[in-house]
Amino acid sequence: MSQERNESVPHMKSEEFRQLGHQMVDWIADYWARMESYPVRAKVAPGEVLSKLPPHAPEQGLGGVEGWDAVFKDLESVVMPGVTHWQSPSFFAYFPANASGPSVLGELLSAGLGVQGMLWSTGPSCTELETRVLDWLAELIGLPESFRSMSPAGGGVIQGTASEATLVAMVAARSRVRRQRPGDAPLVAYSSTQAHSSVLKAAMLSGVARGASDTAHVRLLETDGGYALRPELLERAITEDLAAGRQPFFVCATLGTTSSGAMDPLGPTSEVMKRTGLTDMGGWLHVDAAWAGSALICPENQGLAAGIENVDSIAFDPHKWMLTNFDCDAFYTRDRAALVEALSVTPEYLRNAASASGSVIDYRDWQVELGRRFRALKLWFVVRHYGVNGLRAYIREHVRLAALFESWVREDTRFELAVPRSLSLVCFRLAPRPGEAPEATDARNRALLDKLNATGSAFLSHTVLPGVGGKPARFVLRMAIGAPSTQETHVRACWEALQKLTGE
Ligand SMILES: *Cc1c(COP(=O)(O)O)cnc(C)c1O
Repeated sequence: MSQERNESVPHMKSEEFRQLGHQMVDWIADYWARMESYPVRAKVAPGEVLSKLPPHAPEQGLGGVEGWDAVFKDLESVVMPGVTHWQSPSFFAYFPANASGPSVLGELLSAGLGVQGMLWSTGPSCTELETRVLDWLAELIGLPESFRSMSPAGGGVIQGTASEATLVAMVAARSRVRRQRPGDAPLVAYSSTQAHSSVLKAAMLSGVARGASDTAHVRLLETDGGYALRPELLERAITEDLAAGRQPFFVCATLGTTSSGAMDPLGPTSEVMKRTGLTDMGGWLHVDAAWAGSALICPENQGLAAGIENVDSIAFDPHKWMLTNFDCDAFYTRDRAALVEALSVTPEYLRNAASASGSVIDYRDWQVELGRRFRALKLWFVVRHYGVNGLRAYIREHVRLAALFESWVREDTRFELAVPRSLSLVCFRLAPRPGEAPEATDARNRALLDKLNATGSAFLSHTVLPGVGGKPARFVLRMAIGAPSTQETHVRACWEALQKLTGE
């Protein structure tokens, strides 16, 4: 940067950045080594972190490297007590949110380059590295050629999140269906009751739904006993809506539901769309595989996506279970033209020769935002560092550990599986005692979860699975294995803690 800088602007000098950068990398490496010394879930009360922070911004800056000592001190005393340790080997809540050495280095490099990759011309490497790495990943998870950027009509792009992916798929679907079926018939989207809340949110954002309880425009269909979408109910709903003059346009199937890891059947779902005429109308089938998509890098799991050749788009989050820190969602479609048609607006100040030539990809036309970070770097580093074999071994180890946990639950008569294990997710609970009311069983399970989480030795979360076939809904514990450093000892320790807290 310029030598003749204004001395009243205290930029960090290159040597200072180097020194503090090394110190920060050391700090992170030390943190990863001592992570187990913290309670997994933060123990602060609401407002506690806030109360340790001054109400006004400092007038004077830190004044160089020594001043930064105060920042490192505050990290320990202000920030760390309020951190929940998602990278802890005993973090089993929600779904994982992976970070890894190579991905953090990629994130750092992206920040250092500070590239704004909205157009090819504002970041050729940012664009083309993303194209290539996403094609690698498409091949890895077994997507047909038609989803790859090197195919005539398809392609992949990094979105921030699975929620954004669902939103862009939905607006692409709307524009395709409206083009093929002009008019203003009310649009209707479909998923199961177990689909992620982001489906409803996408409908709210896009104006398809009037609000979170608008079940006329977003139909959430009951599931089967395994919590998967029932194609025959989808068929009935689509047929009814068509007969009533409404316009079905979007179906979201989930591979690996957030509550219980259920897998919607893709083949039968796309068959329903064909049979009802929805496919011919331009209707769109999106697959939300946010968590489970990473497991498809193992060939033995690819059967879960049978029928994938007939879906319109699929998205999964390497930031969940593929060692790439948040945010990084891989989104693929077989119809990139529909996406661009729905999302492209070109003001004069963005016009350029490369875009006009049509020979480049401008990823801003594939997403909500204009600006975009160089996120392909972290994905590229992760895939290169681990290699395909390393990534597969990673997924397989978590699945093995979950199978082990599942076997322990089966052996202990005080517990039961709520549903069969899905990949590395085990939903289980304390079994009902003879004659016990459902609410009482739920209360015992809630108490067990609270007690375990209060110990700080592990962190699990819960869900409520709806009752199917007249049975009551159930409060269940979710054991989601997927932190990078989790080993058998951590899973065993968690199980032993659960057993101990359960008593006789
Ligand atoms: C986690 C999850 C999401 C949301 O993921 P984001 O990337 O945070 O938007 C969506 N769908 C499913 C099935 C999920 O498990």
